[in-house]
Amino acid sequence: MGCNREDMTEKSENSDQKTLQAVREELAQREYEISLLRETTQAIGSELDFDTVLQIIADRARELIRSETLLIPILDEACGLYTYQAGSGRDIDEIVGESLPIEFGVCGWVWRHKRAWWRGMLSELSEEERNRWEKEAGTLIMVPLIGRKHFLGGLAGIDKQGGGDFSERDLKLLELFAGHVAIAIENAMAVKEVESARRATEDYQHALQNLNRRLSMANQELENLSLYDQLTKLPNRSLFLDRVRQHLDAVNDKGGLPFAVLIVDINRFQDINDVLGQDGGDELLKIVSKRYLNALTSKHTLSRMSGDEFAVLLCDIDERRAVEMAERVLDSIKDPVRVMQQEVVVTATVGIAIYPQHGGTVSELIKHGDAAMNTAKREQHAIHLFDEDRDSIDSGRLGMVRDLKNALDGEEFELHYQPKVALFSGNIVGVEALARWHHKQRGWVPPDMFITALEQTGLIAPFSYWVIETALKQRQQWLKKGHEVKIAINIPITLILAPGFITELNAIVDRYPTANGIVIEITENIFMSDYQRLNTVLRQLQEIGFNFSIDDFGTGHSSLSRLRQLPVTELKVDRSFVMDMLKSKDDEIIVKSTIELAHNLGLMVVAEGVENEDIMRQLYRMRCDIAQGYHISKALPPAEIEHFFTTSKWPLSPSIEEKSGSQQNEQ
Ligand code: C2E
Ligand code: CA
Ligand code: CA
Repeated sequence: MGCNREDMTEKSENSDQKTLQAVREELAQREYEISLLRETTQAIGSELDFDTVLQIIADRARELIRSETLLIPILDEACGLYTYQAGSGRDIDEIVGESLPIEFGVCGWVWRHKRAWWRGMLSELSEEERNRWEKEAGTLIMVPLIGRKHFLGGLAGIDKQGGGDFSERDLKLLELFAGHVAIAIENAMAVKEVESARRATEDYQHALQNLNRRLSMANQELENLSLYDQLTKLPNRSLFLDRVRQHLDAVNDKGGLPFAVLIVDINRFQDINDVLGQDGGDELLKIVSKRYLNALTSKHTLSRMSGDEFAVLLCDIDERRAVEMAERVLDSIKDPVRVMQQEVVVTATVGIAIYPQHGGTVSELIKHGDAAMNTAKREQHAIHLFDEDRDSIDSGRLGMVRDLKNALDGEEFELHYQPKVALFSGNIVGVEALARWHHKQRGWVPPDMFITALEQTGLIAPFSYWVIETALKQRQQWLKKGHEVKIAINIPITLILAPGFITELNAIVDRYPTANGIVIEITENIFMSDYQRLNTVLRQLQEIGFNFSIDDFGTGHSSLSRLRQLPVTELKVDRSFVMDMLKSKDDEIIVKSTIELAHNLGLMVVAEGVENEDIMRQLYRMRCDIAQGYHISKALPPAEIEHFFTTSKWPLSPSIEEKSGSQQNEQ
């Protein structure tokens, strides 16, 4: 059997055509692969997002080797774990995201050997290893991804599409592809690292900012606590001192106008506190501080120095303006303050120190402002400018408080007596007992000063009991001598309302035949909180012989109609109205109407602060009952006042023309 030439030619033409066909197919395939590679390279070259880059690579690689599935395991930095970061094709949802230890599976093998895995590898393996991998070998192909710096992971194809094994050609293509894309992956990883580093930095910055914010809040809170008064929210003493210091430095450096430090102290705040209680007192301080603030401008600094003491820094101000500002501050509290459903009348005293004339340092200015304030209180002025000669600072309050106790124990106090004259008869009908204290070193200490100190230290109770006992003793002595004079004593309302007062008084009175003729003067300087209780107490005291007078009337806030409920027999018009009543129409009206109203209520009226004959005359015309004042006499020691009783009927009365023919009764 032979083949003819034509046959041969035909056959060879056929086979040539087949070869040509195959070559063409091969070429087309190559072209496709090349374009795929080029496209892939372009795609991933323009893409920096790590996940997108991996996804493109997975999709293209799968297309290239026609696998059912393509996975990209990526090694972690410590080269301990690999994670399937991306995948394409069948079942990838189950696998992508999973991590496995490097020792595990084909990936570990590729990592350890730094070369591709495919069926052809089997012949190179030991028998044991071959057995282990044989089953999977045909359906799995994996090439390493090796970056410029290190091993990244791999591209793994699983199951050839349409069945069968992966060919060597698949291996070559995948290796070529992996070579192209490894750099892209490495770059994307670097970007991811940079990105995550940036994000971490941002997070860190964020956390830092948060921390900073929290720290600065805590800091602010601390600062707040250490520099501001928690009750009034005003700068506290240390912040105030600092502000004054800063202002003083600025004035010294750049030159500037004088400035003033005001010390503002509420009068008898202790009484207010006793009656209102701590909470009420606090509430009152808050309201008062707001009123002060409203009287000032933002240029000034108001501070709560302690308790009821406030301070103001007034910049660029002279004496006259400082006094004006002090007046404004005091004006701001003119209207009663409403606290705990009660109207409270608050008054204050201001001491002023001006830089540079009253002090060149912060502490000097504060000290002198304080001294001026104390002088103002002592001399009963609302406002006082520091005066080197008058405001002795050395008589510090603290030392005095210590001395008070000794004074009480050592009976250093004395009672002096100021006469009260009935205007229509000229007779001395009574005296007011006023305490005097002669201090061994200090000399005579003003009563307002030591009374306040006694009140603040709680020594006012034993002191008052001493006053009562002394007055009772004195009254008995005078009665024995034939002097029928009533003795008025001053007792703070807080003590009268204090538990145990009645018991104590009963015990004292028991030692004397009678308490008749003792008049208790109750200061009207604060509202009376509990009228009911006061009424009960006063009535009990009335039963054992005491009478009552309302002192300083007009300065406080008790209404006449409310006073009517109390067993009070006398009313004392405050000396501040009486002293000026000839000069001030307002004061005259107050005195006149008080006398009329009191008479309508059946009360006797005493005018204190009668300093001259004209006032006395005018009071007489106004039908005032009793006069007390320097015009008649100052308070005198017992021996001297006794002399007064015997030598004189008050000589002024007959000279009052209206007196003649008057039918009025002697008081
Ligand atoms: P006060 O109860 O209003 O006493 C009257 C004050 O006016 C006394 O001041 C008296 O000396 C003063 N005075 C009398 N006549 C005149 C006058 O014509 N012109 C002027 N400008 N003043 C006059 P003093 O003795 O300095 O007492 C001041 C305050 O001290 C008293 O005011 C009283 O609140 C308190 N005080 C005095 N002694 C006692 C006491 O034994 N117990 C209590 N709790 N307080 C007392
Ligand atoms: Ca009095
Ligand atoms: Ca008085």
